[in-house]
Amino acid sequence: MAYIITRLCIDCLDKGCVEVCPVDCIYQQRGDASADQPNMLYIHPTECISCSACEPECPWKAIYEDREVPAVFADDAAINALCEQQPSQFAVATVARDSEGRLLAKIKPSSQQVDSNRAKWGAK
Ligand code: SF4
Ligand code: SF4
Repeated sequence: MAYIITRLCIDCLDKGCVEVCPVDCIYQQRGDASADQPNMLYIHPTECISCSACEPECPWKAIYEDREVPAVFADDAAINALCEQQPSQFAVATVARDSEGRLLAKIKPSSQQVDSNRAKWGAK
């Protein structure tokens, strides 16, 4: 059992999830995004301890426990697993900080933006 990041994360990437993960098991690509490796973050299915800390931190509601993933995102577990299968292509995700090490402020999406993003990917 693990948590997964769905495609709702694509191009959003505020990384609130990364800040709270106690085991640093959320990864980003080393190279450019592609159809096979979308511009999103990936949870390592073996390293994740299913603590659930990341789920409420995602303003885009992109994170689910694997057994609760909506059917429309069923393929996304395999996408997350790429970071385990192709370790040389991924690195532990990092968060943006200012020159004094403080986390940079983030712009939270409105509920309309969240709903619009979900609708774009066919989720309710
Ligand atoms: S459930 Fe916990 S361990 Fe797994 S990715 Fe989220 S914060 Fe990290
Ligand atoms: S908080 Fe949500 S949208 Fe932001 S990077 Fe994590 S999973 Fe993606």
